Amino acid sequence: MARERLYLFDTTLRDGAQTNGVDFTLADKLAIAGMLDELGIDYVEGGYPGANPTDTELFAKDRKFDTIFTAFGMTRRPGRSASNDPGLALLLDAKADAICFVAKAWDYHVRVALETTEEENLASIRDSVKAAKAKGREVLLDCEHFFDGYKANPTYALACAKAAYDEDARWVVLCDTNGGTLPHEVATIVAEVCKLIPGDHVGIHAHNDTEQAVANSFAAVRAGARQIQGTLNGLGERCGNANLVSIIPTLKLKPEFSSTFDIGVSDAALKKLAQVSHALDERLNRGSNRHAPYVGASAFATKAGIHASAIAKDPATYEHVAPETVGNKRKVLVSEQAGKSNILAELERIGIAADKNDPRIGRLLEIVKERETIGYAYEAADASFEMLARRTLGTVPNYFDVTQFDVNVEQRNNAKGERVTVCMAVVKVKIGDEKMISAAEGNGPVNALDRALRKDLGKYQKYIDGLKLTDFRVRILNGGTEAVTRVLIESEDENGDRWTTIGVSPNIIDASFQALMDSIIYKLVKSGAPA
Ligand SMILES: [Zn+2]
Repeated sequence: MARERLYLFDTTLRDGAQTNGVDFTLADKLAIAGMLDELGIDYVEGGYPGANPTDTELFAKDRKFDTIFTAFGMTRRPGRSASNDPGLALLLDAKADAICFVAKAWDYHVRVALETTEEENLASIRDSVKAAKAKGREVLLDCEHFFDGYKANPTYALACAKAAYDEDARWVVLCDTNGGTLPHEVATIVAEVCKLIPGDHVGIHAHNDTEQAVANSFAAVRAGARQIQGTLNGLGERCGNANLVSIIPTLKLKPEFSSTFDIGVSDAALKKLAQVSHALDERLNRGSNRHAPYVGASAFATKAGIHASAIAKDPATYEHVAPETVGNKRKVLVSEQAGKSNILAELERIGIAADKNDPRIGRLLEIVKERETIGYAYEAADASFEMLARRTLGTVPNYFDVTQFDVNVEQRNNAKGERVTVCMAVVKVKIGDEKMISAAEGNGPVNALDRALRKDLGKYQKYIDGLKLTDFRVRILNGGTEAVTRVLIESEDENGDRWTTIGVSPNIIDASFQALMDSIIYKLVKSGAPA
């Protein structure tokens, strides 16, 4: 039997941007949209053109995505015509493949919040859908507070949804805006809607206020809906939106859904899911939830004991899905033997040949454990792990030594009498018998140090010319006076290869120096620079 198509709609960049403490830049939005596109998400809602400069700029750009890039905005304002509404005009002019309108579907909100009549609200829905269709856009209608509206006045809530469908909106999306609806209610109400509007035109937009946004999304699908809206890592206002990172593997791996539905995410893309989830956290500069279903570091971690020995015999005994299917890894904690096999697996993954009986493997494991207790996170710093492993196994040449460095931060008045902070770094390097000294200024101490360090590496300079730092993230661990600083540096080379290095120290300059050095040496090793 042919499987039915189920569509995924991501609103990380719009609803997810409402999260406390989240403020996406244009570069963030483009990078995240790119990840979603690669993942195979059908619709990516980029934002609300006209609502803020970032979104306006985003929708002024040409893009090359396969995903249906969607702009969000309001239906025409009550009392105005569609052609005489500046907000609507901006939305219609945005470079978007689809437009997702939001409209009230609860009679109470129409009267009290919108201060208009029920009929005018329906007319606004019809006119807006018509105007966007005329512009050649695919159209979606988010029915705000649909479930509460339905409970209060089912006839009116359905009339709002039907108004959009009758004007050929591709999707009518039922929103549980305050997140208070329970799965059995969602099932009942969606089934009623699907009697009036075919399910392959009905979507669900669930919020997580009772921690059932994912369950509500599945309840809606089982009742007939064929589009799920959600966000990466469940980002979103208050308790968040439905988490696509949990929804996607469930759809792909659980026969209940996988035997019935096809989604745009391929098996190969699914293997990148953990990486995508962590990349978003990195971009937001926040720690990943270790206990996140499917993708968390602990999602397939088992403490030693009977479980671990059973897992060693047959992983299926304790795992509901295979961790590799979602790009995660099995972890068995504590046990020395299991730790060693994790290290060996990691070495194999990065292409370092190692013998499991080599005593240096045990030493490497000890160093990793020791360092992770003081704040290193090698999972997030692939290149630093590789450098540590190569050093422990004795395969990193001693290219150069930094014999001394000095970073100076000075605040003073400049010639114009303005207060300025100037940073300057001096680095002394020994390459073989040759001693060199480089100085550089920077907009901050780390920037100055980086410039001085990479200014002149003598015979190695040509290998690092294409190296640049693309991201620098600082996190203070365990707070208070005992605080330790963790620095993660992302670097890129002339081939577009990217890697991350780490440094940990009570001193931010020292932590940064470690990460910078790892990055440079990684690049030299990678380029096959001769010792
Ligand atoms: Zn929402």
